[in-house]
Amino acid sequence: MKIQTKAVHCGERKKAPGQIPVSTPIHTSSSYVCQSSEELDRIFEGSEPGFAYSRYTNPTNEALEEQVTALENGHGALACASGMAALEMAVRVALLDRPKRVLVAKAIYGATLKMLHQVMEPFGVENDEVDTCDLSAVEAALKEKKTGALLMETISNPLLRVGALDEIAKLCRANGAALIVDNTFATPLLVRPLELGAHLVVHSATKYLAGHGDVLGGIIVSDQEHYETLRRLSRIVGPVLGPFESYLTMRGVKTFALRMERQCQNAALLAAWLRRQPQVAGVYHPGDPAHPDAAIIRRLLPSGLAGGMVSFEIRDADKAKVFAFLDRLKMIVRATSLGDVHTMILHPWISSHRDIPPKQKERLGIGVNLVRVSVGIEDIDDITADLAQALAGC
Ligand SMILES: *Cc1c(COP(=O)(O)O)cnc(C)c1O
Repeated sequence: MKIQTKAVHCGERKKAPGQIPVSTPIHTSSSYVCQSSEELDRIFEGSEPGFAYSRYTNPTNEALEEQVTALENGHGALACASGMAALEMAVRVALLDRPKRVLVAKAIYGATLKMLHQVMEPFGVENDEVDTCDLSAVEAALKEKKTGALLMETISNPLLRVGALDEIAKLCRANGAALIVDNTFATPLLVRPLELGAHLVVHSATKYLAGHGDVLGGIIVSDQEHYETLRRLSRIVGPVLGPFESYLTMRGVKTFALRMERQCQNAALLAAWLRRQPQVAGVYHPGDPAHPDAAIIRRLLPSGLAGGMVSFEIRDADKAKVFAFLDRLKMIVRATSLGDVHTMILHPWISSHRDIPPKQKERLGIGVNLVRVSVGIEDIDDITADLAQALAGC
């Protein structure tokens, strides 16, 4: 062989060693060789399992998809390039054979709302908003307009409200709408929406599932009814995760339950500590017995696992005071995102809810003095010590 030929063939496609790797390797190959064209023909046809092209399936992605499908007790999954890519694909799958209208929870991730307004709406997909903590409002909205899908989060951001997923799933099914649940904040350790009647579950795997702040990814877990459509549409447009990210996500998922348990414990301790601080006006945490959704939380969440997020208001603080408080923090990371091993803090007013007009923010209960903490796995005493020294100046 000549050098040009050697350069592209040598070292590759060696006979498999016949041993099974303990951990799934990163399969970066974009396409796959078959023993015969007959075999490739059967793989393309779908009558034989196998890999042909990584936009369709990839061994590393498939391992991650199997892992998260098992966690959510779903039928199958699709690993996507981001949580938003997953949400967009989930909406398309849900609406394919349904009215092109989405009923969306009033309290929803900012980019999710923008996706509906700026990406879906110009292509004729209408949307309405509903308070998913008001069951009669959900029922009325589903009855009033021909809705194809209801899109909501298990635990809302940043006020951490919890809607009655089980009841909402019944209402959706009675009215022919698909229920899509963004389960990023709760994780399958707390709630498995498919078991409660949801059709599609979406995660920003960037958050708790991967959990180390080093990878962007998303995943859709589907029921049986929507799985074929999900794979078929994805094969065409390819919003899929890269194998490097799949590997990192899978590695993260292995410890997610351990991390989440610790984060839930720390969050409950932090919420109790914050309530004792004179500079703190209000504390939001789903583990609070006086939480407005306490009955639903007791029904849907395991006891002692109320999520790793805590929001609180700094008493009489304007924007400058909140900024000064944030800038005094030494260990807690001031950054967007959540669910990482380290404790992070975010100011919704200027970040996640920046584009919402101030009056509407106040109506939603998101004041300029509200901050949101994603509690990490550190020792709780170090978390409260950092907050204490920063609050001391308030
Ligand atoms: C972060 C997040 C998303 C978007 O996920 P990306 O991975 O950033 O695309 C969607 N929903 C929720 C609840 C999130 O926190």
